[in-house]
Amino acid sequence: MPATLCARPLPSHKAYVELGDALERLLPPDRVITDPLRLLAYGTDASLYRLIPRIVVKADSEAEVQGILALCRQYQAPITFRAAGTSLAGQALSDSVLLILGEHWGRVAVAPDGSTIRLQPGVIGSQANACLAPWARKIGPDPASIATARIGGIAANNASGMCCGTHENSYQTIHSMRILLADGTLLDTGDPASRADFAKTHGELLARLDGLALGLKANGPLAEKVRSKFRLKNTTGYSLNALVDYDDPIDILLHLLIGSEGTLAFISELTYRTVVDLPRKASMMLLFPDMAEACRAIPILKKTPVAAVELLDQPAMRSVEKMPGMPACIIDTPDGAAALLIETRALDAAALDAQMAAIIEALKPFHTLSPLEFATDLAVTANYWKARSGVFPAVAGARPVGTTVIIEDVAFKVEDLAAGVTDLQGLFEKYHYEGCCIYGHALDGNMHFVIYHDFSIPSEVERYKAFLDAVCALVVNKYDGSLKAEHGTGRNMAPYVELEWGAAAYQLMVEIKDLLDPEALLNPGVVLNPDPNVHLKNFKPMPAADPLVDACMECGFCEPLCPTNGWTLTPRQRIVGLREIARIRKAGGDPERAAALRRRYAYDGTRTCAACGLCSTVCPMGINTGKMIKHLRADRWETLGRAVGRWAGRHYGGLLALSGPGLAVVGAARSVVGDKAFTALTRTARKVSLGLVPKITSNVPTQVTYRPKNSTTPGRKVVYLPSCATRSMGPAGFDPVRASVPEVFQRLLEKSGFQVIYPENMGGLCCGQPWDTQGLKETADAKAAELEAALFKASEGGTLPIVSDTSTCTSRMKEFMNGRLELKDLVEFLHDEVLPKLPVQNREGTIMLHLNCGARKMGMQPKLVAIARACAETVIEPEGMTCCGFSGMWGFTTPELNEYATRNLAEQVPAGCHDGYSTNRTCEIGLSDQAGIPYRSIVHLVAKATGA
Ligand SMILES: Cc1cc2nc3c(=O)[nH]c(=O)nc-3n(C[C@H](O)[C@H](O)[C@H](O)COP(=O)(O)OP(=O)(O)OC[C@H]3O[C@@H](n4cnc5c(N)ncnc54)[C@H](O)[C@@H]3O)c2cc1C
Ligand code: SF4
Ligand code: SF4
Repeated sequence: MPATLCARPLPSHKAYVELGDALERLLPPDRVITDPLRLLAYGTDASLYRLIPRIVVKADSEAEVQGILALCRQYQAPITFRAAGTSLAGQALSDSVLLILGEHWGRVAVAPDGSTIRLQPGVIGSQANACLAPWARKIGPDPASIATARIGGIAANNASGMCCGTHENSYQTIHSMRILLADGTLLDTGDPASRADFAKTHGELLARLDGLALGLKANGPLAEKVRSKFRLKNTTGYSLNALVDYDDPIDILLHLLIGSEGTLAFISELTYRTVVDLPRKASMMLLFPDMAEACRAIPILKKTPVAAVELLDQPAMRSVEKMPGMPACIIDTPDGAAALLIETRALDAAALDAQMAAIIEALKPFHTLSPLEFATDLAVTANYWKARSGVFPAVAGARPVGTTVIIEDVAFKVEDLAAGVTDLQGLFEKYHYEGCCIYGHALDGNMHFVIYHDFSIPSEVERYKAFLDAVCALVVNKYDGSLKAEHGTGRNMAPYVELEWGAAAYQLMVEIKDLLDPEALLNPGVVLNPDPNVHLKNFKPMPAADPLVDACMECGFCEPLCPTNGWTLTPRQRIVGLREIARIRKAGGDPERAAALRRRYAYDGTRTCAACGLCSTVCPMGINTGKMIKHLRADRWETLGRAVGRWAGRHYGGLLALSGPGLAVVGAARSVVGDKAFTALTRTARKVSLGLVPKITSNVPTQVTYRPKNSTTPGRKVVYLPSCATRSMGPAGFDPVRASVPEVFQRLLEKSGFQVIYPENMGGLCCGQPWDTQGLKETADAKAAELEAALFKASEGGTLPIVSDTSTCTSRMKEFMNGRLELKDLVEFLHDEVLPKLPVQNREGTIMLHLNCGARKMGMQPKLVAIARACAETVIEPEGMTCCGFSGMWGFTTPELNEYATRNLAEQVPAGCHDGYSTNRTCEIGLSDQAGIPYRSIVHLVAKATGA
C-alpha cells in the first residue's frame, strides 16, 4: 500500500509540546492555541464528525504558512487547512494541527474591465460578488453557503450551487493560483517566471504528472469514463478531468487543486474569470401531479433560457408550507405531487419577457396543477425562494434534540432523475426514514436529502451504514451517478471513492496524492482513506444544552456577523462549548477538563458576547445565541443580585437623575486636567484596579440639561420617546455639536409639522435593555411592560404613532410589543416623515456611518443609508464592521470587546472626515473612542442638512 494510504500513529505528546513551543517562536503566542475550549470550538466544522486538534495555529501570510509547514514536516505532524469550516463531509477537521486563516487573507483585486478577480483565500464568496457588482459580474461558484464560505474552501471543495452547474464552477473559471506545496515551495501559475523556476526545481514532479496525464489520455475507455463522470457535477475523489483536459503539467496541477480538499497543497491566492450577473429576474413555482411529470419537464427546460430549476418533492413542500408568506400552490398539495421552482434572468425587460414566453411555451404540453405564470414582483419571488431555502432548516430544526442532521448530495443524469428519485424514495421507506424529503438542482440532476440520527445509539450507526451502502450502490451501480455532487468527499464518502471510480482511476488518485504529498501530512484520511469504516467513526455528540440553541446544526452561517469572530468565540463556537460542558456534566467525564472548559467559557463565551443578537439574523433557524448567553448570565445572579436588579428597576428614574451630576463631575475633572491627562489617568486607574474601574475616556458624555416638554404648536400628533441614554447622555465633551438628541429631534419633528407629545413620568421609563443584557429578564420585561402602558396612554390608546430615538431600544420594544402599538424607529420616521417635508439645504462633505445591531435587526440599512446620502456628499460604511461591541454599559466594563469589534475602524476614516453618525448613544461613545472623531445621532445630521 502506498505510504499516503497507510494509517500512521500521530506524533507523541512530547512532540506536540515541542511543536507548540516552536510555533510560538515563529508566531506571536496568541496565534498558537492550545487551551481545551478553543481547540474544541475552533476545531468544529459543519459536518457530522468531531476531531479535536492538538494545536490550532493562525497564519497571516505565505511566509508564515511556509514556516508552519516546515515545522509540521520536522515533527511529522499532519496539518489541515481551514477556511470558514462550513464543510459537510468532514474534510475541514484535524486531530493534529489545524491551520486557520488570520486576519490578513482578505485582499481582493478586480481587473479594470471586471473580467477577472484576484482573491485571497479568506475572502467570503459574497464579498467577492459585492466587489464585482459595479461591473454586473460575479464569481462562477455559487454554493448556498456563499455568504459564509471563503474562497479557499470554495475552490478546495469545488463548491457549486443552483446556477453554476458544471460550466461555471471553480474548475471551469479558475484562471491562475498561488500554490504552496507541502515542501514549502511557492508556485504562481499566473507568473511565467514562477512557472519557469518551478519547472527547474520540480522538473521530476511535473514529468510524473505529465506521465499520469499521458497514460490516462492513452487509455481510451478510462479517459472517456473520466470525461463522462465530469459531465455530471462530481466532487467524489480528485478532479481527474484535469489529466484529460490539459496538457501542460502546471495547468494540470492548477486544476487538480480544485476539489482537492486541502490534501494536495495550500491555496494562498487565486484568480477567477468572472461571469455575467444578469440583473432582471423572474421566477415561477410550478406544481406537478407527480414526480415523474416534473422530471419529464426538466430536459425540456434545459433547452430553454432558464438560469435555475429547483425540484421539491411533496415532503419538502410540506416541511415549509406553514411558514409565513408561502406560495399558495405548495400548501396542502396532493400526495405524490412535486414542484419546480424556475428562474430566468436577462439583461433588460424586453429580453426577460421573451424568455418567459419561451419557457411557458415549452411547458404547455405538461400536466400541471398551478398556472404557467412567472412573477417579477420581488416580494412574491422572494417568498418562492424562501420556500426553497427553508426546506433544510425546517427539517433540521424539527429533528429531535440530540440528533445529528446529515444532508446528502448525489447526482443522476437528468434523463435518470425520475427513476433515481423514485428509487431513493424506496430506500427511505426500506430504511425507515419517514417523511424524508428530496430537493435540489434539477438541471444538474443534483438531489439533496436530509436525514438525522442519534449516533450515540449503536443500532442507529448500523442503520446509517446500511442505508448509505444502499444509496451508494444505487447511485453508482444502477445509474452511474455521482455520490457527492457538490459537498466534497471528506471522510464521509472516502470509503466509496473506489466504488464510484473503479480500481484504475482510484490508483491514479493515489499516485497524485503520493506525488504531491509524499509524507502524507496534508489532511490525511480525507478524500482517500483505506479504512472502510472511517465514515462511521468520530461522530460529533449533540447533547441537549439549552432549548434556545438545541436545534443548532453547527453550520457556521452565524460566524461572519459576530463581532467576536476571530477573537474569543463565535455563536457556533459558543454553542459547541456549551454542548461539551453539558455532555461532560451528563456523562460524568473528566472533571479537570470540564473545569478548564468552564473557566475559559466564563470569559470567551459569556463575558465577551455583545448580546447583540446579530447571529439570529443570518441563522437559518433564527437562533439567537445572545439570548442563550443572557440565560447563562442570569444563572450567575444570586438571589441578592436579582433583588438589587428589581430595586434598580423600581427606582430607575432616581438612579438616572443621579447619573447627570455624575457625568457633570467627570466633565469637570476632564476640563481641569485636560483630555490627554484625563484619559491617561483613568487608563492607569483601570489598570491598577485590575479592570474594576470602568474605562472612562474623553468621549464620556456630558450631562443633559434639556428638559423635554410637549409642543405648544399644533400639528399632527406624534408621541416621542427619548431613550434613557439620550435623556441622560449629552454630546461628548470635545464634540463641537453641543445640543442633546431630544432637543434636536423635537425641533426637527416640529419643523416638519408634528406636535410632539411625551409619555407621562418619563424619568423612570425604560425598555428594559440594560437588565436584559445582564440576563435579568424578569425585571427587563417588567420595565418594558411599564413603558408599553405609558406609551399606550400617551398615544391615546394606540391611535397615535410613537417614535423612538434609539434603534436598539426600538428593536427590543418592537419585539416585546409584537405590533400592539405603532412604534417607529427614528430611522424610518426621519426617512418616511421628516425628510420629505424638510428640503436639504447644505449637504455635509464626507461622513462615517454606523449601522448598529438594533437597526440591522429591523432591516433599517436601506433607509439609514438613504438619509445619510441625502444629507452628505460621501457616506462611508466601514468594511468589516458589524456590531460595535459596546453593548450598552458593557463598553465601560469590558472595553476590549468594543476595541476588537472596531479594530479596523480608525484606518477607514479618511483625511478630512470629522463626523460620524449612528442611532444609539452608547454605541457612539465606543465608536468615537476608536475612530478618533465624534460620532453622534443621525438626527444631528438631518438637522444640520435641513437647517433645523
Ligand atoms: C447549510 C449549508 C449549505 C451548503 N450548501 C452548499 C452548496 O449549495 N454547494 C456546495 O458546494 N457546498 C455547500 N455547502 C458546503 C460548504 O459550505 C462549501 O463546500 C464551502 O465551499 C466550504 O467553504 P469553507 O470556507 O467553509 O471551507 P472549509 O470547510 O473551511 O474547508 C473546505 C476544504 O477546503 C480546504 N481548504 C480550506 N482552505 C484552504 C486553502 N487555503 N488551501 C487549500 N485547502 C483549503 C479544507 O482543508 C477543507 O478540506 C453547504 C454547507 C452548509 C453548512
Ligand atoms: S446558531 Fe444557527 S447559524 Fe449558527 S451554527 Fe447554529 S444553526 Fe448555524
Ligand atoms: S449575540 Fe452578538 S456577540 Fe453574541 S454570539 Fe450572537 S452575534 Fe456574537
